[in-house]
Amino acid sequence: MTTTKTWRQKLAAVLEWSPVDKGQILLVMLVPILGQYMLWTLYVLDRSDHTLLVNVAALNRVQQVEGVMLAGALLLIALGLLLRRRHPDSLWFQHLAVQYYAIVLPFLGYGVGLNAISTGIVLIGAPIFGFIVLNRRVVWLATGTAVSLVLSISIATAEGLLPYAPVMQPVTSATVLSFQTYSVLSFAAPHFLFILLLADQTLHFWRERENTIREISRTDMLTGIPNRRSIMEVLDKEVARTRRHGPPLCVVILDLDHFKKVNDTWGHPTGDKVLREAARVLRESIRTCDCIGRYGGEEFMIVLPDTNAEGAAVLLERCRAALAATIIRAETGKTFTISASFGVVCNVKDMNMDGETLIRLADEALYRAKENGRNRVEMAA
Ligand code: GH3
Ligand code: MG
Ligand code: MG
Repeated sequence: MTTTKTWRQKLAAVLEWSPVDKGQILLVMLVPILGQYMLWTLYVLDRSDHTLLVNVAALNRVQQVEGVMLAGALLLIALGLLLRRRHPDSLWFQHLAVQYYAIVLPFLGYGVGLNAISTGIVLIGAPIFGFIVLNRRVVWLATGTAVSLVLSISIATAEGLLPYAPVMQPVTSATVLSFQTYSVLSFAAPHFLFILLLADQTLHFWRERENTIREISRTDMLTGIPNRRSIMEVLDKEVARTRRHGPPLCVVILDLDHFKKVNDTWGHPTGDKVLREAARVLRESIRTCDCIGRYGGEEFMIVLPDTNAEGAAVLLERCRAALAATIIRAETGKTFTISASFGVVCNVKDMNMDGETLIRLADEALYRAKENGRNRVEMAA
């Protein structure tokens, strides 16, 4: 569990890399890719039947070009290392690196035959990787290069202007066929696995981040309960559910009593502590199907679905008593108590009432609770 997270954190860090460092990824990837081709060459030449399988002269030429390409990749990596400190934002380097990649891979594919599954995987997979990690324009231009090269080579071979798969011998036996099939599959496998893993992990990371951001956008930072936007959404949803024939719904607005005095007497940090404590006590006093949110500074809204006025009165009396019994310890170590006034409205008489009307009626009831001495629950008429 922890290792997966670290892995994702590393991946997230890659997304924040500089354009130069991101360009380096592809160049660094070219090293094992070219290495794999070179190992494959050694393996083939080591086989006693290699003249049946490959055109040795063409393979030698390709091997020389691969050597040059490897040197080119290493030179570009060195250039990137020089740039990364002073000019990490050089997008031209990313263009150069990705164009290089877009030229090397079609060439490697041409040697062993472009009409293969590996061509499809790279042509689709590399842009997917690119669009996730790299600059869009860089990816579009490099995809243009790779597609143009693949198309030109394919058409040239189809028209007889170039030999098809110059490194490979014609398929004359089952041995040659299986050799070619497994060769192409082994070339395709690393690309396939890398692209699949990267896409899966990045999208997973993005989804997790989206959930976190959504959670943050709905939560009140101080108290950890739903914020005003979130509780209003709950209210809208419950109003829509209850309208016309639904079960009755109660809406509560409560306001801490003499809260300004708490701040003035005990200090703002203690005032914040009171808000956190009040939110906790209220949340623990309501049912799981009820929803509480911070409506304003020291005002909270509680939405009580499927509740009539009598039920609300019992529940809110419990909340009121729990709040009044809460002892707060100030920063000085001294303790004091708090209380709140509650205004409640129940839509049982008119199920068609909208959220705005319910809030207005609850607010009026709250005003009366304040007028009638505070620390009490008032029901809207
Ligand atoms: P009443 O009983 O009539 O409601 O009196 P009150 O003092 O509670 O009412 P008033 O609206 O005058 O005061 C609300 C105070 O809440 C004023 C403001 O400084 C304080 N307040 C609002 N948000 C926060 C907050 O996030 N933290 C703290 N510590 N205080 C806050
Ligand atoms: Mg207030
Ligand atoms: Mg108040």
